[in-house]
Amino acid sequence: MTDTLTLYAQAKIDSLAAKNLARTPKPTHRLDGVWLERGGRRMVSFSCNDYLGLSHHPAVKAAAIAAIERYGTGAGASRLVTGDHPLFMELEARLAALKGAEAACVFGSGYLANAGIIPTFAGPGDVVLIDDLAHACIWSGAKLSGAQVINFRHNDVVDLEAKLAAVRQSVRSALVATDGVFSMDGDVAPLDQISRVARAHDAWLLVDDAHGLGVLGGGAGTARLFPDARVDLHMGTLSKAIGGYGAYVCATQAAIALIKMRARTFVYTTGLPPACVAGAVAALDIIACEPDRVAAPLAKARRFTAALTLPEAQSAVVPIILGCAGTALAAAAELEGQGLLVVPIRPPTVPEGTARLRVAFTAGHPETAIERLVEAVRPWLAR
Ligand code: PMP
Repeated sequence: MTDTLTLYAQAKIDSLAAKNLARTPKPTHRLDGVWLERGGRRMVSFSCNDYLGLSHHPAVKAAAIAAIERYGTGAGASRLVTGDHPLFMELEARLAALKGAEAACVFGSGYLANAGIIPTFAGPGDVVLIDDLAHACIWSGAKLSGAQVINFRHNDVVDLEAKLAAVRQSVRSALVATDGVFSMDGDVAPLDQISRVARAHDAWLLVDDAHGLGVLGGGAGTARLFPDARVDLHMGTLSKAIGGYGAYVCATQAAIALIKMRARTFVYTTGLPPACVAGAVAALDIIACEPDRVAAPLAKARRFTAALTLPEAQSAVVPIILGCAGTALAAAAELEGQGLLVVPIRPPTVPEGTARLRVAFTAGHPETAIERLVEAVRPWLAR
């Protein structure tokens, strides 16, 4: 085929490949939270966000299967159209209680959540201030909102305050948005200071805690580390430590009621399949009852950073920054040859010149696998 669309696609692919930026999913069979099979080989994955191994936990699977038997495989339509089945209400009540919020709203995915929440509270005439390293879907949501979008330097509260103060009088509403745990860097946002600045300038605060839930704050998430922080919109996903799919936001009753009326990615999209909702409730039960499992990913990440004298891990994610995309690819290929799957992360997911290995630790990683990883990574750090 040589139609213009195909030519367009091929030219773009060729240009990405020339810069070591081409990507394709590889056939892979995840056996559990730690092990997988690829190309006929069994490997340890340090690339999954299944931090607690719950995607394969018997109780979570049983809850999902029971929900299919009782409620079917699909939600049928938007929740506003088919009506709310009891599992949604149960999950939302559980999430709100965990976050100490009045109410919650479950979304189809994290990307959909941020693409719907931000335009609900910001529009033309408003401003959204976003940390430079915040997740792509926050930027998408802000762009969709039509509000003025201003970036602030990563975790730099002084820069945030200067930019917020400069713009605040000329806009109606201001929303500050940040990740709780940064997905590619593993560091934590100083939510106490960010919240203080937001409040001082009458701005609302949205925290995307996709990588904090189930891992930090005894499982309740990053905000629990900062008791003085006031977070208006606690957003997170059901796809990482919860082991399934979907997302949520917790806030006041009124804010959640408005989201359910106005967030386009809630109103105009099908509800989550019952299996995802039931699996998430079962996962929250495990998080509440198993503090040792919850503490394990961070403890393992810290053993890894200590062994390599890297800055102490703040979450389950540790970046090994290598610079150019080609080096990250070469390092990942060498590790894969040793049966260790560590995904290379390249631009545009991370800034130019900061291509890296992103190591994600899970509760089930055996100490021997972590020791092997330490030795495999050491020469790349020395280069
Ligand atoms: N926010 C953050 C910080 C994430 O890392 C991700 C997923 N990589 C998302 C949102 C999107 O969530 P989902 O995969 O459920 O769309």
